[in-house]
Amino acid sequence: MIGLLSWQRTWRARARSNSAHKEDRKLYKLHVVFACDTEDNHPSYVPGWRSRGSNYDSNPSRLEWSWTRYWHDLSELFRRRGVPITWLIRVDNGPMWDCMLSLFRDEILGLKSVGDEIGIHIHTYVWRSKLSKWVQTIDRKNEVEIVTRSIEMFERGLGFVPCSVRMGWNTMSNEIMRTLDSRGLLVDASAIPGTYCLGKFGNRDNIYDWSKASREPYHPRSNDYQRPGNMKILEMPISTCDTDRSTIMTGLINRLSAVKGSSALLSILPLVRRFDVNPNAGFYISPWWSLSVSKRIIRTYCKKACKDGVAYLIGFFHPCDIIDPKTGKKNALLEKCISTTIKEIQDLSNIDVNFTTLSKIASIFEEEV
Ligand SMILES: [Zn+2]
Repeated sequence: MIGLLSWQRTWRARARSNSAHKEDRKLYKLHVVFACDTEDNHPSYVPGWRSRGSNYDSNPSRLEWSWTRYWHDLSELFRRRGVPITWLIRVDNGPMWDCMLSLFRDEILGLKSVGDEIGIHIHTYVWRSKLSKWVQTIDRKNEVEIVTRSIEMFERGLGFVPCSVRMGWNTMSNEIMRTLDSRGLLVDASAIPGTYCLGKFGNRDNIYDWSKASREPYHPRSNDYQRPGNMKILEMPISTCDTDRSTIMTGLINRLSAVKGSSALLSILPLVRRFDVNPNAGFYISPWWSLSVSKRIIRTYCKKACKDGVAYLIGFFHPCDIIDPKTGKKNALLEKCISTTIKEIQDLSNIDVNFTTLSKIASIFEEEV
């Protein structure tokens, strides 16, 4: 009898300690989103993609979709681990228009039906006949027209308004942000705070400025998208960590990639991987760069959750990186990078991890602030 009482006391004490431990865990919450810029293969002018990339040097362009053979493998990889994905589907006002929506409508709606989120990914390309190339426009009127028409095509093609967006090449302007807001989009994740780029690949795209943006989610100001204000749309930035090395490397890579042919860039890629260097300041999962920056960002946001009680970790990737541009076969390295990254987050101790989607994390943020 005494033995039974003592066992009951021990059991109750353990139960109390377990529930206290669970309460502790609940104190530290990390919400995690993987967003995915879903489009064709990388353009053929991107280093390494000359033979397998889409050709944007002709009108109409010649689009390559070889990565989509492995789309199901990718979505299963996440599903097996209980991680929803925010697929941001490419629409533009040329060279692609609504072609992705019509070609893959069933696949896209199928992903939505199993709990993934379907948002929009808009590239602001225009055809420059003098150059015979599709290039990123910096004309604000053009930008508004492209964004407006892209959202209309998305609605017509899929039958619903997208809630979430990431702009192609991380681009943004006050005009684009106001258009997204007025069309009812709830959350944008184009920001990579602290970074800017004057253009890559002979300055034909990758023109953006997020140098002044906050690393915290914010409602942008209508006349300054980088500053907090009163717009309804929420800017949910890609997670970053401070690193001088990243900035220096990004500068170097950007300069090299602006050189025609970019052979210099190609030749240093194996070197930067070997020395565990990643020039990206943001949480970008790619088989081309080491996971060192992503791991550092995960640790930084874990500490932030422990300090503030909650943190929002946002990463992105390109599904076309599942193609090896040299062989055209599957590049298993992307799957490995994704699995390692998810495991790194799942293994965080004392943190309650919630894998979710962009529009859901936006509403969680609104409720918690
Ligand atoms: Zn893109």
